[in-house]
Amino acid sequence: APGGNVKVVVRVRGFLPREIDRGAECLIDMNPITQATTLLAPNDTDAANSRFKTRKVEEKMFTFDNSFWSHEKEDHHYAHQADVYNCLGEEFLDHNFEGYHTCIFAYGQTGSGKSYTMMGTADQPGLIPRTCEDLFERIEAAHNETPNISYNVRVSYFEVYNEHVRDLLVPVQLNQAPCYLKIRESPTEGPYVKDLTDAPVKNITEILRHMKTGDSNRTTASTKMNDTSSRSHSVFTIMLKQIHHDMETDETTERVARIRLVDLAGSERAKATEATGTRLREGSNINKSLTTLGRVIAALADPKQQRPGKRNKDIVPYRDSILTWLLKDSLGGNSKTAMIACIAPSDYDETLSTLRYADQAKRIRTRAIVNQDHVS
Ligand code: ADP
Ligand code: MG
Repeated sequence: APGGNVKVVVRVRGFLPREIDRGAECLIDMNPITQATTLLAPNDTDAANSRFKTRKVEEKMFTFDNSFWSHEKEDHHYAHQADVYNCLGEEFLDHNFEGYHTCIFAYGQTGSGKSYTMMGTADQPGLIPRTCEDLFERIEAAHNETPNISYNVRVSYFEVYNEHVRDLLVPVQLNQAPCYLKIRESPTEGPYVKDLTDAPVKNITEILRHMKTGDSNRTTASTKMNDTSSRSHSVFTIMLKQIHHDMETDETTERVARIRLVDLAGSERAKATEATGTRLREGSNINKSLTTLGRVIAALADPKQQRPGKRNKDIVPYRDSILTWLLKDSLGGNSKTAMIACIAPSDYDETLSTLRYADQAKRIRTRAIVNQDHVS
């Protein structure tokens, strides 16, 4: 039967200098054999319990499709950027060449390693640059092996900030009001961003140039507007079209795949309703797209909530936020989808919430199909 579950993996990062300075303890254990991820209770349980007041702080165990241990470089099972790509990115790119849409999104609190995992650094490139590179390597190899297939690649990059969509491939105008784009819905393609730059790219150099432009536009805006990167969702999209010409029958078929790579806002932004006091002052910063994403995932993970006589699409609240509306297909439709839950090593509260979220996402099933059409 078509369809499969959302693939869910977890990655823990190493200590940052500030965590070493305060003598933080690592609360994460990953079993390289069983892939089980355990969140340990802090040693200082009394202090923790008083901080959490009535809640019990105890050990919790989860199992995901993969667990990436990026905490201690010396450990033999340390997961490098290349390991994350080889375990997940490569498989998803295989699906794209088969003609499936895919989406990989990074979830987790600010500072947990989402951008490091998706974009990475110049020295340690993440999933996005590695996907771009592998894509063009495969296309170049195919030129010799299968000369009857031609390829067309386009790229777009936008961010959702405060329920507005901004084109990251358009330079930020420092003295001008930011330009926000509108969302439209096409009967065949579903929701899309109107007037979004959709740049054709011929090689690895061109696509990486767009990637860098977009990323620096995101950073420029974030320094201007006080830490937007923790509040914004960025969506990097590659459209891969394979045009196959059959010499014998003179038939042409097209296969189209959409590759979406999403770096979500910091998950702590979703908890504005939790009356813990500390989050209340952030009440004005409720991230609607993130809270709605949580509700969409909950609705998709638990179809029992479906009332008889009501169709699923009436219940899943995709339309309640910009992000979920735009990612509708990736979340509950025609896409093979993966979630990377990024966790910090020493934050019991946020990590438990991220792991629970990820655990729920495992139950989501999407229905991916090969997007192939005869054109003549
Ligand atoms: P987020 O995007 O979730 O807010 P970042 O990706 O910016 O978090 O990561 C926070 C910090 O931790 C950055 O300095 C980043 O370079 C570092 N970091 C995150 N994950 C890793 C990792 N696996 N290995 C080394 N450094 C990491
Ligand atoms: Mg980030």
